[in-house]
Amino acid sequence: MQTKVSVATTSRYVLNILKSFKASIAVMLCVAVYGGLSLSVMPYMIRIIINRVSEPSTGDLVALIALPAGIYLLTQVFLSLGYRTYDYFVTIRMIPALRAKITNEAMYTLLNQTQNYFQNNLSGNLANKINDLVSSIPEMIQIVIDRFITLSLIILFAVITLGLVNIKFAALMIAWVATFVLCVAFNTRRVTELAIAWSEQGSGIIGRIVDILANFLSVQLFSAKRIEQQQLADACTDAVSKERKLQWRYFWIFMFYGVTALMLTAASLYFLIQGRVAGTVQPGDFALVLLINITIMDQLWMIAKDYAHFSRLLGKLMQALNAILYPTDLTDKPNAGELKVTAGQITYDQVHFNYKGRDEVFRNKSVQIPAGQKVGLVGYSGGGKTTFVNLILRLYDVTAGKILIDQQDIRDVTQESLHAAIAMIPQDPVLFHRSLLDNIRYGKQTASHSDIIDAAKRARADDFIAKLPKGYETFVGERGIKLSGGQRQRVAIARAMLKNAPILILDEATSQLDSVTEGFIQDALWELMQGKTTIVIAHRLSTLLHMDRILVFDQGKIVEDGTHSELLAKRGLYKTLWDAQVGGFLPSTKHGAI
Ligand code: ADP
Ligand code: MG
Repeated sequence: MQTKVSVATTSRYVLNILKSFKASIAVMLCVAVYGGLSLSVMPYMIRIIINRVSEPSTGDLVALIALPAGIYLLTQVFLSLGYRTYDYFVTIRMIPALRAKITNEAMYTLLNQTQNYFQNNLSGNLANKINDLVSSIPEMIQIVIDRFITLSLIILFAVITLGLVNIKFAALMIAWVATFVLCVAFNTRRVTELAIAWSEQGSGIIGRIVDILANFLSVQLFSAKRIEQQQLADACTDAVSKERKLQWRYFWIFMFYGVTALMLTAASLYFLIQGRVAGTVQPGDFALVLLINITIMDQLWMIAKDYAHFSRLLGKLMQALNAILYPTDLTDKPNAGELKVTAGQITYDQVHFNYKGRDEVFRNKSVQIPAGQKVGLVGYSGGGKTTFVNLILRLYDVTAGKILIDQQDIRDVTQESLHAAIAMIPQDPVLFHRSLLDNIRYGKQTASHSDIIDAAKRARADDFIAKLPKGYETFVGERGIKLSGGQRQRVAIARAMLKNAPILILDEATSQLDSVTEGFIQDALWELMQGKTTIVIAHRLSTLLHMDRILVFDQGKIVEDGTHSELLAKRGLYKTLWDAQVGGFLPSTKHGAI
């Protein structure tokens, strides 16, 4: 994935989140100012103390040094108090709440993404990105304020203090800091690039691991363990070389730091001794200059490390935002109203559609499904049946033309109201890793326990659920993996029954059931269809015998349109499909059709 999110966008995102934490940020800044100031005040007091104790004594020594010593100690007390205030406002109050806010906002953004988006992003990868946001943002804020801003202030106060002694020391310090900052600035671009490349490689590896683990059965059945391991190892080798490139950069930056810091100390000592000889430098000035030098070197050294860490975090953050803030074009219009289903008429009006980067599935398709009609869709696999219903659900937007429900363009209403009006049983339903009860309740969150059991009974799910060790409280595994396809379908049917929406769509909803169970469920489904506009994509043509109308799809086109008997009489594609299924049933026992 290419990085598209800029540093400016990233900063705006972070600042926006920080808006709710103004008090804590203010405390952080105050502590930064005080911390910066105290690191100059304390050496300055030491300078005064040393100068006074080294002078030939003219009075009470204690009285002489009482004031500077007192200021020194008080500075330290307040510094300590400042840090505890910081702990309370930042560590205890802000950061936990900040993490919660980041998680919630990121999830909000993700839940407004489209089907298309989730087909292009591995879910494990996205979960990892949220984790990256949660871990990197608080740390980056702390680095910026506690280190970068604090250090700038430390340097500012230190230069002023050194200037009070002798302008030469201030100039030396400015020269050194400027050289180092220039060195860092010069490397920023490259370091960030390297950090991003490394971080991308890292999350690519995680994504790959998630994908391999999700497909563990395939890996096993195709004896692909070695090849998967090898490919992963190659990706890891690549990550190693990317990390090393980055670390070499840091190596040279640190080397440069070490050499220049040594030069600073040597030069400072030279000027101190020279001044002492000339009588312009007092003993306390040695302490002041050397102490401040040590402080700044110490800080700048940590900063160089923080900077390295910061650029890695920035790389991670930008990459996470890049995935999460991916612009979605499928949004509600600002003034979108609720869909009002009065009858349930569905209209395809000159619809064109293609999946991104693919050939057109539909070209200028117009179909009218009158209210309450029961329509069956048949055709070869890949003919566009699922796409036809997905467009009605607005999982994708049409490229041209429009789709209307009761004369309302589905792009003019909220997606939530659209989805509330349609109950859909997908081709291959997946379930939450929650109890069966919760999974069925998903059809209607307010349903009572007995409504849920009733729906499960009508969907013939009750039989198998009753046999499970924990009944309705049984957890079904990730994506419902612990159930058979047919069992998952029955749970999905029970959900749709609970939902009881005015428009019903079944996408091969019973394809994984044996024909006996399917026969039982057909009665319940038939009952559910009463008074609703229904679209049934059929796997077994016999299930369509009672439909008002059958549409035959072939490569996106509707090639036949009529009732079962009309279409049989036409002797076209429908007849071919029908004959192939021996009276509508695929032979399901070795004795042939039931
Ligand atoms: P059917 O349900 O009739 O089997 P589909 O509507 O699923 O057919 O598919 C119609 C065509 O669109 C097929 O060529 C299929 O490969 C393609 N297609 C389906 N889903 C996607 C997708 N998410 N992205 C790209 N192409 C897709
Ligand atoms: Mg399909």
